[in-house]
Amino acid sequence: MSEPLVVMRDVNKHFGDLHVLQDINLEVDKGEVVILIGPSGSGKSTLCRTINRLETFESGSISIDGKELPEEGKELAALRADVGMVFQSFNLFAHKTILENVTLGPIKVRGTKKADAEKRARELLDRVGIGHQAEKYPAQLSGGQQQRVAIARSLAMDPKVMLFDEPTSALDPEMINEVLDVMVELAKSGMTMIVVTHEMGFARKAANRVVFLSDGQIVEQATPEEFFTNPTSDRAKDFLGKIL
Ligand code: ADP
Ligand code: MG
Repeated sequence: MSEPLVVMRDVNKHFGDLHVLQDINLEVDKGEVVILIGPSGSGKSTLCRTINRLETFESGSISIDGKELPEEGKELAALRADVGMVFQSFNLFAHKTILENVTLGPIKVRGTKKADAEKRARELLDRVGIGHQAEKYPAQLSGGQQQRVAIARSLAMDPKVMLFDEPTSALDPEMINEVLDVMVELAKSGMTMIVVTHEMGFARKAANRVVFLSDGQIVEQATPEEFFTNPTSDRAKDFLGKIL
């Protein structure tokens, strides 16, 4: 048995008086797709952000592929590059072309040669269905297209794990599926993924496990089928009653 790719042990974090992450223990195996679900304010975004140290935490430990996350320094930058992150807002560089958006990280952070970075970027843009728009600027693309570029940009860094924080919640309804389709394909290709989403179709199609967070605690974990049809905790029942 190899070690899980992501290991969070007894992680605690406060924002002032708010105990936003309470003794979080979470292991994600290589190739596993985990859905993080829970009420607004339960700590889902904070949990994602602690995984690559966009947020600090007070106690506990987090390791990626067997290496504990240091608090700062060069090693942190290297480990962070192993963790791709896609947010609700796409955060593309407005004054750079789609191609430049995707090549920037590999060239600056990984030291990849420009020609190699561009070749790989074009492959990834093809993969997410944006290959013919590489020379355009972000504002010329729809929200769904921009989010697919954001996914390609993350993949260009060859991350070991991809975090998605509500990647479709800022999109118009007709664009949600084009992004989810890319994510399903990514899941099938074996990418390790942690996805904050309430999209049950995606959960059922692609997820191995649902982790339910409430008030900063992991309250329940189950397969999507079990969780959505037969939640055991009152908090999960209450939550599902509101979103279903
Ligand atoms: P979720 O993503 O599940 O909606 P968040 O992780 O964004 O939840 O937030 C969890 C709680 O932490 C909320 O009560 C939120 O108001 C609070 N919070 C989030 N970020 C900060 C911050 N930078 N400073 C203070 N409180 C914060
Ligand atoms: Mg959030």
